[in-house]
Amino acid sequence: MATATEGGSSGHVADISWQSPTVAYNRRSMSGFEEVNHYFRKAARIMDLSPRVERMLVTPFREVKVDVSITLDSGELGTFIGYRVQHDRSRGPMKGGLRYHPTVDMDEALGLASLMTWKTAVVNLPYGGAKGGISVDPATLTPRELERLTRRFVQQIHDIIGPQTDIPAPDLNTNAQVMAWIMDEYSRMHGFSPAVVTGKPVDLFGSRGREEATGRGVVFALEEYLKDAGQGEVRGKRFAVQGFGNVGSWACRFLHERGGRVVAVADAGGGVQAPDGLDIPKLIEHARTGRRVAGFPGADAITNEALLVLDVDVLIPAALGGVITESNARDVRARLVVEAANAPTTPRADEILAERGVTVLPDIFVNAGGVTVSYFEWAQNIQQFTWEAERVEAELQRHMREAYATLARVARERKVDLRTAAFIVAIGRVGRATVLRGV
Ligand code: NAD
Repeated sequence: MATATEGGSSGHVADISWQSPTVAYNRRSMSGFEEVNHYFRKAARIMDLSPRVERMLVTPFREVKVDVSITLDSGELGTFIGYRVQHDRSRGPMKGGLRYHPTVDMDEALGLASLMTWKTAVVNLPYGGAKGGISVDPATLTPRELERLTRRFVQQIHDIIGPQTDIPAPDLNTNAQVMAWIMDEYSRMHGFSPAVVTGKPVDLFGSRGREEATGRGVVFALEEYLKDAGQGEVRGKRFAVQGFGNVGSWACRFLHERGGRVVAVADAGGGVQAPDGLDIPKLIEHARTGRRVAGFPGADAITNEALLVLDVDVLIPAALGGVITESNARDVRARLVVEAANAPTTPRADEILAERGVTVLPDIFVNAGGVTVSYFEWAQNIQQFTWEAERVEAELQRHMREAYATLARVARERKVDLRTAAFIVAIGRVGRATVLRGV
């Protein structure tokens, strides 16, 4: 089944079959929420925000924790906890994924919800930020149990979500089928409401181009940067990509189509490398059937650790959070890091990369293609008008181009890195909307 997420999950390569959860935040010194707020404060200081406004913008609008107990197929009771954090709603309905993963808790949801507030503002979508999910390993449940769990969750949160309130989307271990169940359950209670979730199957009011949107957006983001920095084009450049799920595999396909040489790819089962470039269409086929990249004929093995410090032009982390840390940032040899994953670089590593002159294209811009096409899906649902794939692609490119132009201008004017510029742009937009609406 095709999957399209605003924060994780597979499609292109490994259609979700409720595999054991893979992507999670690595354990690190700061919590996810503290990390986001660290970057927020760095930008807020430059903007001279008053401590009160700062506190108001950082404080989540609502945090919800619900019991989602269900009867398991065995007849026993399965007890699970669901979360939904709604971070900010000043610029529109709140938007963000739902993940089914054992690490889901309030802090993880807080960090990711706040990231969504800033991400939607960076690409100027009329949304605020939200995130949530259920603390569960979906690999331990049958499809019928997952459906019951999903419907139970909707029953518990239906009064705080809605097409004009909070619009969930897939994330880690949730997919288009889960979104279809959410739409159906919510519609039973509130009447026909396709716009209550995005990332739905194309046959059920989903958008064309949603599945590949994040990977496509990653490559658009990179191209804008290369053009602006006078560094030519993708063709001929050497890439190392960590993660070969939805984001990584689509990004690799688009890089390959443009003549980029993807010389190393890794997933949870290890990696493969080929100095002249991997044959990406064949690797996608190999990973689809074998569910991992390891063992790809004609390529040598490489570990995830070695991939991150490989001698390439561009490093693209597209799997885990917190993989570039204080302990390996000095060894990164790429001159450009494109953050396709959410929060792959810890704040300390970010400083080390900056000291070493390595440019980082930040996650809140780079991987915003997914939520951007979710916005197109929502707009199509509301208008009851379907866009062609070409229109989706062209509008996505326009959004990424305009977002980059703004970031680059602010980075130059303020003499800051692109991440700080992204936060300055986002905080400015959210702050102005908040003030104009009145507290
Ligand atoms: P996915 O589940 O489809 O794929 C994840 C990939 O990471 C898989 O190839 C998996 O094997 C690999 N992986 C897992 N653990 C690993 C490990 N320990 N070492 C190396 N590789 C490992 O997820 P996705 O949708 O591609 O998301 C990837 C990242 O992109 C996540 O950080 C997610 O939050 C972020 N993101 C995704 C989207 C989207 O639309 N899918 C949007 C924004 C951000």
